[in-house]
Amino acid sequence: MLLTYKIKHGRDFSTELAQAFEVAESVVVPVHYCTRYCIPGGKYKKMISKSRSSASVKNIGLPSAISNQILKKYGSQKKIKNVHSVNLIVPAQGIKYFEETNSIWISCLKLHMENLIPVVFESINQAEIDEEYVAFSVEIEEQSGMIPQQFIGVDRNTTGHIVVAANPDTGVVRMMGKAALHIHTKYKNIRTALQKSGQYRKVKKIKDRESRIVRDLNHKISKELVVMAVRQNAALVFEKLTGIRNTKKQNRSFKYSLHSWSFYKLQEFVEYKAKLLGVPVLYVNPAYTSQDCSRCGARGNRNGKRFVCPVCGHVNHADVNAAFNIALRQKDMVARIQTTMCTMGALIPPNDALLEGEHH
Ligand SMILES: [Zn+2]
Repeated sequence: MLLTYKIKHGRDFSTELAQAFEVAESVVVPVHYCTRYCIPGGKYKKMISKSRSSASVKNIGLPSAISNQILKKYGSQKKIKNVHSVNLIVPAQGIKYFEETNSIWISCLKLHMENLIPVVFESINQAEIDEEYVAFSVEIEEQSGMIPQQFIGVDRNTTGHIVVAANPDTGVVRMMGKAALHIHTKYKNIRTALQKSGQYRKVKKIKDRESRIVRDLNHKISKELVVMAVRQNAALVFEKLTGIRNTKKQNRSFKYSLHSWSFYKLQEFVEYKAKLLGVPVLYVNPAYTSQDCSRCGARGNRNGKRFVCPVCGHVNHADVNAAFNIALRQKDMVARIQTTMCTMGALIPPNDALLEGEHH
């Protein structure tokens, strides 16, 4: 399966990007002297692409491996009218991939990237670099999907964190994205101040910055979730989000709306990364996940961050209780299917039968 794998490089490549622009421009500039039929500077002036060798753009200073790729790309497009922004393009030969350490080295830019998502690339065909990201086009083996031994329930829309993840089999609980509330309040205040003083152009800028930070955080959280699932050989279980706006859950003391926090984006990132690593992502019915007791199943009382069960006396952080319930809901369903199938004398169902989840 061929796909694009994007990561932040955290470097300042503005010099190289400016050079790349120069290289590209050198092949597509308007040429006044193109043929003798053209009137110099006259109305027949047109853009043509000149064929240029990397030697002729050497003085620009970009590594030749990269300028060659740019010349190839822009030189072959006869109809280019303008060059806007030009990415650095590194061919496969310029990229070293170390499977053992899960890192990549691009020698011509002295760029080392580590802590990649733990997926094995069969090959890396090319890398394109802009101000912020490296986009690798990679070939990976289609993941057949693990058979989950455990389930990690993920509660979104929690009080104070973006997600709370909990595994009822191990009791492991992770709360992720605490910074979000702080970020949101901070940028909201800045925006309000700017609006009051009529600096509307800056408002847009601040909005863009916030959504960039949110996107990065979403990427980080989704990676953490998926890596957690791989390590525990577990599936990730979420609540089905459709119609969440009308449920009680949305009304609980929560400072975000779905609009200000992009849960759908987070979901997209999780799905994508889970697919890379063969982690099943399942969805369950969200009804009462925050009211039921994760220990005995009775309907309990939720009071802000605290959950108390009137039947068994279980006390827990309300979001942790909800995350456990989400996982248990899936686990129970799998157990029910297995029991039914066994009673019917059939084999334990194959993996994909379990992956359907409860669809309502
Ligand atoms: Zn209970």
